[in-house]
Amino acid sequence: MQIIEPHIHMYARTTDDYEAMKQSGYVAVIEPAFWSGTDRSSESSYFDYFRHLLEFEHARAAKYGLYHYSFLGVNAKEARHTAIAFKVIDGLEEYLKHPNCLGVGEIGLDLITPDEEEVFRRQVKIAEKHKLPVIIHSPHTNKRVGVERLIKILLEEKADLKRYVMDHNTEETMGTTLKQPHLMAGITLYPTKVNNERAAALIKEYGAERILINSSADWGKSYPLNVAQAAAQFPALGLKDDAIRKVTFENAHRFFSQSAKFKI
Ligand SMILES: [Zn+2]
Repeated sequence: MQIIEPHIHMYARTTDDYEAMKQSGYVAVIEPAFWSGTDRSSESSYFDYFRHLLEFEHARAAKYGLYHYSFLGVNAKEARHTAIAFKVIDGLEEYLKHPNCLGVGEIGLDLITPDEEEVFRRQVKIAEKHKLPVIIHSPHTNKRVGVERLIKILLEEKADLKRYVMDHNTEETMGTTLKQPHLMAGITLYPTKVNNERAAALIKEYGAERILINSSADWGKSYPLNVAQAAAQFPALGLKDDAIRKVTFENAHRFFSQSAKFKI
């Protein structure tokens, strides 16, 4: 079986993880830019990180036969540092042109503040200008309110929703996300988020057509092989092969192929 991991932070993982992913059937990993664990003190710190993802991580993955593509942007947790955030957004387009960058992400809301909304909106405008795919981070608390707010901004900006994935959905938000035509819905298999049983139940309830599953593995207690492990357990949880293929490979392939740079 072939797997695309549509959301993982390899920056925070070891080379052994790349090797294990290759051995478990992964063909490509998608890495959205995120918070580093401490806030960045200048825009140049972001740009160094972007270059690290685009070049170093891409090459590290390639050594193990894996495609690696990045999404770049200012994450919600650092949006309150607006002076830095706006400078990064002003310099973002140059990095988005890189052959290993597919789009903008992960951008979204954390505490649902006006600063976060403004930082999100400015980046949506850039994505719309260049017709780029976008990975959206939905907040962990007040998730439903956050997802509704994010969708409202997308609609106000007349965003083309087929290029957007609303990530980290739960039972609380899946209906709201999929009610929007063409919007893709991510489910994150993470100890503090959704487990395999709940993911399988959501896929059964809503169908597999617009759902992607991911590990979002990072420096937290997380596991980079979660998607492979879920795929192995899904038949016992009542999911058919066809649905499993869609949520672990086909939907991601279709979504990321909206960028001409995605060639796997
Ligand atoms: Zn993430």
